[in-house]
Amino acid sequence: MLSNKSNENTGTLAQALRIRKEREKSYRERALKLFPKLCGRCGREFSGKRLRELTVHHKDHNHDNNPPDGSNWELLCIYCHENEHSRDQVADAYATDLVGESLDDNLKHNPFEGLADLIKKYENNRE
Ligand SMILES: [Zn+2]
Ligand SMILES: [Zn+2]
Repeated sequence: MLSNKSNENTGTLAQALRIRKEREKSYRERALKLFPKLCGRCGREFSGKRLRELTVHHKDHNHDNNPPDGSNWELLCIYCHENEHSRDQVADAYATDLVGESLDDNLKHNPFEGLADLIKKYENNRE
């Protein structure tokens, strides 16, 4: 009974993945028809087998946003595509760094100051 249920779930997941893959294939094909087959960053042209290296980037990073006019798509080669996304990660890391700096400022004060007071109070109450 249990195994039946998990098989059902696996089937649904596989189906969802298949639909997603098919949809990705179809918007890639549409994008390749709409745009010249070159990378929007480095400008390299792709044809034949190397066309596999040309991927569809979603400008708003939402893969479900696929307007038929292609306004959310950009053709990028796999290298520039990865670059495009790692730039976001760098921006995130930079923001985290700023948070880290303010934490450092806080550490200049004795972080145990308040704790020592609390322990003192606790001990005084016991006496
Ligand atoms: Zn490129
Ligand atoms: Zn992308």
